[in-house]
Amino acid sequence: MFISPTTPKPQFIVTPLDESQIQAVVICSKLHGLLVRVRSGGHDYEGLSYISSKPFIIIDLVNLQQINVDIEDETAWVQAGATVGQVYYRIAEQSRNYGFPAGICHTTGVGGYISGGGIGFLMRKYGLAADNVLDAHLIDVNGKLLDRKSMGEDLFWAIRGGGGASFGVIVSWKIKLVHVPSIVTVFNVQKTLEQGASNLFHKWQNVAHKVPKELVIRTVVQPVDGVSDRTIQVLFQSVFQGTVKELLPLMEESFPELGLEAKDCTEMSWISSILNIEGLSELGVDVLLNRSQQSKKYFKGKSDFVKEAISISDLESIWKVMLEEEISPPPMMICEPFGGRMDEISEYALPFPHRVGNLYNIQYFSEWLDEGHSTSKEYVESTRRLYNYMTPYVSKSPRASYLNYKDLDLGINVDTSTSYLEATVWGKKYFKNNFERLVYVKSKVDPGNFFWNEQSIPPLISCGKRVKDYYSFLWTAVKKPLETLFINSL
Ligand SMILES: Cc1cc2nc3c(=O)[nH]c(=O)nc-3n(C[C@H](O)[C@H](O)[C@H](O)COP(=O)(O)OP(=O)(O)OC[C@H]3O[C@@H](n4cnc5c(N)ncnc54)[C@H](O)[C@@H]3O)c2cc1C
Repeated sequence: MFISPTTPKPQFIVTPLDESQIQAVVICSKLHGLLVRVRSGGHDYEGLSYISSKPFIIIDLVNLQQINVDIEDETAWVQAGATVGQVYYRIAEQSRNYGFPAGICHTTGVGGYISGGGIGFLMRKYGLAADNVLDAHLIDVNGKLLDRKSMGEDLFWAIRGGGGASFGVIVSWKIKLVHVPSIVTVFNVQKTLEQGASNLFHKWQNVAHKVPKELVIRTVVQPVDGVSDRTIQVLFQSVFQGTVKELLPLMEESFPELGLEAKDCTEMSWISSILNIEGLSELGVDVLLNRSQQSKKYFKGKSDFVKEAISISDLESIWKVMLEEEISPPPMMICEPFGGRMDEISEYALPFPHRVGNLYNIQYFSEWLDEGHSTSKEYVESTRRLYNYMTPYVSKSPRASYLNYKDLDLGINVDTSTSYLEATVWGKKYFKNNFERLVYVKSKVDPGNFFWNEQSIPPLISCGKRVKDYYSFLWTAVKKPLETLFINSL
């Protein structure tokens, strides 16, 4: 995880073997004023689980990977240090008709992934990973081990999408397994501008969020070398919960322009579809148990939500900007369709507020191999340029972002005294009107701000420099319907 010599190093790394050792570390760290970082899978986009500009220690949950699947109960207890790949594997080991709605990269840890929301290929049918959590075990700021009942519904709400790192150390999740058919169908269809990619992407924007929940078609847009010149390529990548025979008429009805044929489609088990989408089919299912990184790369991500389809002429301008980038590879856009189950869940149900009204989510993503400062700067700047260019086409007031694609460009807590008002700049982007409730929960469970990081939720205290903060918070709170803020605490 420290592939660059310039990466700040921790004073020490603790690898607890059980809950009691986490409790001891939290109590001791608090006593000695040590800043703690908690690491599960280590996939944080800004490295906040293992780096800090201030002296710090790491609690690395690598030894807590136990997964107990109870097929009859359709649940599993999963320790926070496990990866989503391990979860998929252990479920599929018992039945090919169960799965869990998590993400594509199998080495992502469930500690960070679920506590940030968790989007993936089953999202349109079952919602986020966090929508499918039934219970959790957490060590709080006083070193107490809590479950859902003892932590209360406010804290249980906050850790399912509000980011665990602000509230405690999540030890394990009780997840609800979901049904998957014995056969799913996967297709990967690539189209360039010369093959009508602009019209197809335009149509995709209007249909992908409306098709039946069983069908997810995401798009990956990137500049590539064409036959004679550089061009834009759009990859239409899909997992359908059903057979080819069921899929083809559905596509013919909703998206005939793509011209999908049986030869483009492959039937397989749900667990094989995970490998296929990640490009790991050849390695076999056991690769899901391998938690080491496939490659050592640097990357920058940013995110957006799109509420209205972008016109063809505007898409063409966006492609032009993408093609003008000289770095190789240039930033890409990964677009995940919403709709389906996501439209049915209230934006206040969990801290993740991006529900009905969103057509799709965009992730801007650049990656590079050279660790040099100037190279990193070029790629990061290039990603920012594309993000800036997209401003007119994406959600506004606030321009929303997704916590799991963490982006410190949105704003940071300079130190532990960052106020609610200051943190609103980035907090509203991730959480919209759920931000106040997160601040309220934080103030209740960690008023001293022990669980701090550059984008942790700040507590609210009504003294000193925060008096203004306090009144501003109260004003925001009374303006809103009471149930959206304190529904579970009344
Ligand atoms: C290659 C790649 C693919 C991805 N694909 C997807 C995707 O398909 N869908 C999606 O939604 N996201 C995706 N992500 C984003 C990913 O979900 C987030 O980066 C997530 O936070 C990673 O969790 P982690 O446990 O691996 O990371 P970590 O770096 O260990 O943790 C991330 C954050 O959570 C905190 N944290 C971790 N564990 C705990 C714990 N037990 N208790 C309290 N706080 C904790 C950390 O302190 C840190 O702030 C992807 C990321 C990468 C790098």
